[in-house]
Amino acid sequence: MNIVIQDLELVNVTKRYGTTIAVNAVSHHFCPASYTCLLGPSGCGKSSTLRMIAGHETISDGSILLAHRDISHLPPAKRGTAMMFQNYALFPHLSVADNVAFSLKMKGVDAKDRRAKAAEMLELVDLTTLADRLPDQLSGGQQQRVALARALITRPQVLLLDEPLSALDPFLRVRMRTELRNLQKELGISFVHVTHGQDEALALADEIVVMNNAVIEQAGPARDVFNAPRTRFVAQFMGGHNVIALPQGHYAIRSDAVQVTAPDAGQFDAYVTAIEYQGTHVSVLSRIAGDQEVTALVPDASYFNAPHHPGDRIGLTWDAKNLHQLTA
Ligand code: ADP
Ligand code: MG
Repeated sequence: MNIVIQDLELVNVTKRYGTTIAVNAVSHHFCPASYTCLLGPSGCGKSSTLRMIAGHETISDGSILLAHRDISHLPPAKRGTAMMFQNYALFPHLSVADNVAFSLKMKGVDAKDRRAKAAEMLELVDLTTLADRLPDQLSGGQQQRVALARALITRPQVLLLDEPLSALDPFLRVRMRTELRNLQKELGISFVHVTHGQDEALALADEIVVMNNAVIEQAGPARDVFNAPRTRFVAQFMGGHNVIALPQGHYAIRSDAVQVTAPDAGQFDAYVTAIEYQGTHVSVLSRIAGDQEVTALVPDASYFNAPHHPGDRIGLTWDAKNLHQLTA
C-alpha cells in the first residue's frame, strides 16, 4: 500500500459525561508508523480516548489532529482512521467477503471493485479460502481477522483497536498479537491499541502510553516505561518492580535486580512470606523492616540450589544503581 506517514496528535483532549471527567486535557503526539498501546486499569479513560479519535464519541474540549489537519469534528468515515471493536461487530447474515466489503458498499463502490478489494484484504489476513462463510462458521481468531480486514479496507492512516485480543483464549491471544504486530509493520501505518494488560503492551508496543485517572501518567518506548517508571502507579501497574520507601523517598527496583543472600549477609534483613514457582524463575516474597514487601525474582536453577521456605530468615541486597527514584 502506498501510504504517506501521518502524525496523530491529541491537544488537551477532554471528555466529560455529565459530571464524570473520563479524559482530562490529554495531550500526546503519537509516533508515526508505529505501534502504540494505551495501557491502564479499567475506567481510566482508554476507550473514551480511542472513541474520540475514531469519531464515535464527541470531544468535550481540545482537538485531534491527523497530518496537521483538525479532524475533531469530522464524521468517522472522513477522518482517515478506522476502528476495530472488541466484539468484532460482524454482520451475522453477511458472508466474510461481504462483511469486509461493507464500507465500500456504503460508499457506492460498484460490486466488481468491492469484490476485488475485499479479496485483496482477505489475502492480507490469510482468509482467502473462507470468503464465502458466515461469521458463526468461523473461530474467534478468524472472526478477528475478518474484523481487521473490514477495518483496513478503508485504507486508514491510523487503525484503532479496543482490547482486540480480550475475547481470545490465552494461546490464540499470543498468536494473534504476533499477527497484529507483523501486520502493522507490513502496512507501515499507525496502530493505536487499547489494553489493560501490561504483558500485552510490552509484547506489542513501540510506545506505551500509561493512563490513570483520566490522564497520561507516563509515555515512552516500551523498554523505558518498564525500566524507568516515573511514579509509584506506573511501577506497580507495569509489574516486575518493588516500590520501596527509603529515608530519601520512594524508589522502584526490578524484582530480578534483588538478590537473596544468607541471613545477615545482605544489606537488609528479611523473612520469607511466600514462594511462587514461575517456571523459569521463582518469586521469593519477603518482608523487610517497616513491614515492606519485597519480591526477589530468582532464576530457577539458583533458587533450587538453596531453596527457602516461608518463615526463613534471609538477607536481601541490590546494587544502588538499579534503584529508580519515583516522583510521585
Ligand atoms: P476504560 O476504557 O479505560 O475502561 P472508559 O473510557 O470506558 O475507560 O471510561 C472512563 C470513565 O468514563 C469511567 O468512569 C466510565 O464509567 C465513564 N464512562 C464511559 N462511557 C460513558 C458513558 N457513555 N456515559 C457515562 N460515563 C461513561
Ligand atoms: Mg475500555
